[in-house]
Amino acid sequence: AALEQIKAVESDVHGYVSYDEESALKRAEEVQKGINDGTYTGPLAGVPMAIKDNICTKGYTTTCSSKILENFVPTYSAQAVENLIKEGVVFLGKTNMDEFAMGSTTETSAYGVTKNPWDLDKVPGGSSGGSAAAVAANECFMALGSDTGGSIRQPASYCGVTGIKPTYGTVSRYGLIAYGSSLDQIGPLAKDVTDCATLLEAIASHDEKDSTSVRLESYDFTSALKDDVKGMKIGIPKDYFGEGLDEEVKEAVLAAAKTLEEKGAIVEEFDLGLVEYAIPAYYVIAAAEASSNLSRFDGVKYGYRAKDYEGLHNMYKKTRSEGFGAEVKRRIMLGSFVLSSGYYDAYYLKALRTKALIKKEFDKAFEKYDVILGPVAPTTAPKLGDSLSDPIKMYLGDIYTISVNLAGLPGISLPCGKDKNGMPIGLQLIGDCFNEKKIIQAAYTFE
Ligand code: GLN
Repeated sequence: AALEQIKAVESDVHGYVSYDEESALKRAEEVQKGINDGTYTGPLAGVPMAIKDNICTKGYTTTCSSKILENFVPTYSAQAVENLIKEGVVFLGKTNMDEFAMGSTTETSAYGVTKNPWDLDKVPGGSSGGSAAAVAANECFMALGSDTGGSIRQPASYCGVTGIKPTYGTVSRYGLIAYGSSLDQIGPLAKDVTDCATLLEAIASHDEKDSTSVRLESYDFTSALKDDVKGMKIGIPKDYFGEGLDEEVKEAVLAAAKTLEEKGAIVEEFDLGLVEYAIPAYYVIAAAEASSNLSRFDGVKYGYRAKDYEGLHNMYKKTRSEGFGAEVKRRIMLGSFVLSSGYYDAYYLKALRTKALIKKEFDKAFEKYDVILGPVAPTTAPKLGDSLSDPIKMYLGDIYTISVNLAGLPGISLPCGKDKNGMPIGLQLIGDCFNEKKIIQAAYTFE
């Protein structure tokens, strides 16, 4: 069914960078045998799934939607993918994204733009726009994405699907091509909260190959799927409902809060503080880490190498000039600048201090509340082409998602209505570290 749907809509939606019908069918047959003989017994056995193209898949191209990795075939799979293989998942292909996950619209991909299945003139969000669009268009039943500053939650919101950004350390980053290593997490995008929780349960694991992976007491998330928010304390940060928030988005999100209240949750407004510093801090830290992480793409070890060059330095220069797109270059320049001597203290160190203070603000809030509720993005999906001309405006759109990454917290994005044009609106629920179950439980109210 998924392959048929890909054939029917992929030329419009373009959710995938690549897909392989033959190997998917072969794998499906193997898994079917495994289900029959009892090898695969879990809920994900045989489920057709897509994977964002910055997550390594052994023997299958992983491009990060960049020209510099156009022919890169990893020799190993990400730990999250290995976990899914053991569950009997059937992989269909790799989904489109903003180049190296830098962007909010999937328009910076070197392999063409993905379109929003609800309105093909609009963006699907980003950077996991291909994963969100593929799920929304039924080109797969579930997908993996990655979230450094909102890249699972924001496209989920624009495409009317559900997505979870897990607590930093819950899902192994081994095999996830690094953007901002201290912020990156792999997470699920799916049709609903139940599917997301089920997928999260399968990909979360302790992994010695990722030194920031945390050993959890329990990897059970699905037992939180119960319709009960009685007595749950939910905080609404006033700072998330001020200037810049679209009126229709605001109404839909507050209506969702009302529903939770009617079901017995205690809903209260509060001041979160420091919200305005999250964007500058994030764009300094993420760019700094990216400039370092992306230094490995030099034409020697991976992927693309320029054709004509004179000497080694010229080869590096030409390879990187030709291989990276404009947004990636902008981030590398910004990152190199804030890390350079004389500026390190003024920008990078200051951003790290801001990050620590933002975490403290959340710690304070979670002394009082189980869950924090707000919008995912200030607006519904913008038109294709509208964001690219003004990067600062695009960065400002990350206001509600970014601090969650800076503080390492879990967040879920789920649909909570439509605007007057029929475009989906997303609701965000944020939990304390390793408290995924609380946000899953609150979100399940809407299922
Ligand atoms: N839009 C943000 C950025 O461009 C977040 C991207 C992400 O989470 N990967 O950095």
